[in-house]
Amino acid sequence: MNDIAPASVADTAASLLYPLSDGIGSVALVQYVGDDKMIVNAARVSFGGDSDAPLAARDEKLISYLLKNRHGSPFEHNLITFKVICPIFVDRQMVRHRVGVSKNEVSGRYVEVQERDYTPNEFRKQAPSNRQASVADDGTLDQGAAQAIWAHASETAFRAYYELLALGVTREQARGVLPLSLYTESYYTFNVRSLLHFLSLRDHDGAQYETRLYAQAMGELARPLFPVTFAAWAEIGEH
Ligand SMILES: Cc1cc2nc3c(=O)[nH]c(=O)nc-3n(C[C@H](O)[C@H](O)[C@H](O)COP(=O)(O)OP(=O)(O)OC[C@H]3O[C@@H](n4cnc5c(N)ncnc54)[C@H](O)[C@@H]3O)c2cc1C
Repeated sequence: MNDIAPASVADTAASLLYPLSDGIGSVALVQYVGDDKMIVNAARVSFGGDSDAPLAARDEKLISYLLKNRHGSPFEHNLITFKVICPIFVDRQMVRHRVGVSKNEVSGRYVEVQERDYTPNEFRKQAPSNRQASVADDGTLDQGAAQAIWAHASETAFRAYYELLALGVTREQARGVLPLSLYTESYYTFNVRSLLHFLSLRDHDGAQYETRLYAQAMGELARPLFPVTFAAWAEIGEH
């Protein structure tokens, strides 16, 4: 029987962050299990060296060694659960992370979706040389026009959704007219290994800006729970 009880989120200073600064999109730390010591014990059990002793300097060195040498399995004996409210276009990227990540999401088949979608404060331009990337507006984008087009598309889509429902169309079909900016909500559970992998790919220059903000929020919430691991990971280059 596992005698490690999930820690309470009350143990952490900040447990809710708003990556998109709109008061809707959020990452909440729901629960966690394990600590840096568990990682050390998982590594040391191979030669009978696990113990209840407090984390010591040699344990911190071991964590660095494990990360540098990609000994990943000791980082899998813990859980960090986030409740993530994000636009569908962000979630589509998060859900690509298959290993060591569990997810459950609200279903637009069961419930009528809430009329809430994300609107950027600032529109960006397509990067000239990188087909995936965006760059900040250099003053040549008509921000007002972009806002108006976005708002019109959003209003039209939600109106169509409610009109279809009013006609008696099923929720699972009516939702097809809703935008990628629609907010969805999920529980995501990572272990430390899968979270570090996720952060290395999604808190990265090459990742979509909005997804990066979510990754940064998740990293910020997880870092105080596994301070030695995150410090070592930052030091060795977050690979
Ligand atoms: C900047 C960026 C741009 C991207 N652009 C695109 C795109 O244009 N189109 C697109 O489809 N995706 C794109 N992706 C998604 C990307 O291809 C990965 O699916 C995603 O980043 C998840 O990474 P992962 O497979 O390493 O993670 P996980 O699925 O969590 O896998 C973790 C690790 O497990 C191993 N693994 C998992 N599954 C397998 C398997 N089947 N066989 C062998 N080893 C496995 C690999 O070592 C892998 O790194 C992009 C990702 C990023 C970060």
